Amino acid sequence: MSQNVFQFIDVQRVDPPKKPLKIRKIQFVEIYESFNKPQVEMQADRCLECGNPYCEWKCPVHNYIPNWLKLAKEGRILEAVELSHQTNSLPEVCGRVCPQDRLCEGACTLNDRFGAVTIGNIEKYITDKAFEMGWKPDLSNVVKTGKRVAVIGAGPAGLACADVLARGGVTPVVFDKYPEIGGLLTFGIPSFKLEKEVMQRRREIFQGMGVEFRLETEVGRDVTFADLLGEFDAVFLGVGTYKYMKGGFANEEAPGVYDALPYLISNANRLLGFEKAQSDYIDFAGKQVVVLGGGDTAMDCVRTAIRQGAAKVICAYRRDEENMPGSKREVKNAREEGVEFMFNLQPIGVELDASGHTVGIKVVSTELGAPDANGRRNPVVIEGSEQVLPADVVVMAFGFQPNPQPWMAEYGIELDNRDRIKAREQAEYPFQTSNPKVFAGGDAVRGSDLVVTAIYEGRKAAEGIMDYLAV
Ligand code: FAD
Ligand code: SF4
Repeated sequence: MSQNVFQFIDVQRVDPPKKPLKIRKIQFVEIYESFNKPQVEMQADRCLECGNPYCEWKCPVHNYIPNWLKLAKEGRILEAVELSHQTNSLPEVCGRVCPQDRLCEGACTLNDRFGAVTIGNIEKYITDKAFEMGWKPDLSNVVKTGKRVAVIGAGPAGLACADVLARGGVTPVVFDKYPEIGGLLTFGIPSFKLEKEVMQRRREIFQGMGVEFRLETEVGRDVTFADLLGEFDAVFLGVGTYKYMKGGFANEEAPGVYDALPYLISNANRLLGFEKAQSDYIDFAGKQVVVLGGGDTAMDCVRTAIRQGAAKVICAYRRDEENMPGSKREVKNAREEGVEFMFNLQPIGVELDASGHTVGIKVVSTELGAPDANGRRNPVVIEGSEQVLPADVVVMAFGFQPNPQPWMAEYGIELDNRDRIKAREQAEYPFQTSNPKVFAGGDAVRGSDLVVTAIYEGRKAAEGIMDYLAV
């Protein structure tokens, strides 16, 4: 097929259609439809095949984007999926949840005037289509090394590490305290962005590659770290960041005030059938909900509350809309679904009734002051601007910090001053910690970040482990 270099002028960028609002407001299903074959071929054909593709550099795993776009355009899906797995362990996930406007698509040459190539959706299509066609990774030529590695954490970092190890002939055994793989992909990111079946399908693929999962097994409780160090040739830590940042305001521990992640996890457990007791489910049906925060986690909470049937959902953020850290795409989706946004409001205390239940959140107005050392303008409180937003429930979505586990210090695994595990890509063995037998990657090393950066570090750490084991 010949390349029409002016295709991007004739063919506009098209995003996949969204499901109707009446479905989006009540169902936990992905809101974007998939591209069909003609759409993929037309959209992939818009790629200019730049000599020095900026999209590849901006993609944290450095996907061979123009190359698999070309294969997709030519309908060569099985070749495209093989190529895409050379750099990415979970391409169907990244295609769905990466903030493409800040990454690959943000760097596309066509971005300024014509609209970037729809890279993420084509990446998702390639893998989904290949699975539909019965594709599985072929490891028949892999020579087993006899080495075994314990991977702690079945989030994207741990899974990516296991993927590369299995392809290198090293047997990974993945431990996770949750009953399903995926980490935040399964228990944090809601189904309207990433349906649960996507990770369930991946578990089967990984198991077919020889990856062993020991789920509902918490290291430090059900199995000791010492046992893992004794039994395995190396250990990878992909344990994420699970300390919830607090607001530091009055009554934030009162009944009716929730941290974002337990709320999202309770909803995931219900969808997955993992709920142990009815009382474990946090249900906002019929409630007035105020979510505090302006990041992607806040967007996931407001949109979950809408689908649970909340009476009213407000997102209150202490800066203005322009300075929100969350993806613009997700803010737009939330607005469409009925979320009300209130900007330049800082919480100062939860209002309680006589029986101690939440009835509102007291806020003060802010204006943006001078930029700080990172160039970010900090909110400055306007005196005398207090008001109370009525609320039956308040959700704090202020982000996460690492939660070092007690056994880390005992085994010489050093942390930095923000409790992140010290492990560098530039070390002799990439992502080796201060305990030579232990490697680490993902949020536990970087602090809360992205799925695709966790995948990158898990993959690089696997290479470091194989160098260390000399296999
Ligand atoms: P995690 O995904 O947190 O996985 C860590 C795993 O380790 C967990 O499964 C945990 O159970 C397990 N574990 C921890 N300690 C132990 C132990 N002692 N024993 C056994 N198992 C243990 N990123 C995006 O790119 N796009 C998004 O749209 C997006 N949305 C997000 C929405 C929410 C609500 C949140 C919270 C995050 C979101 N992120 C998003 C960020 C992204 O999910 C994380 O950056 C990514 O999952 C980090 O991967 P990880 O493997 O390092 O850690
Ligand atoms: Fe873009 Fe993410 Fe895919 Fe890279 S992994 S090409 S950044 S969607």
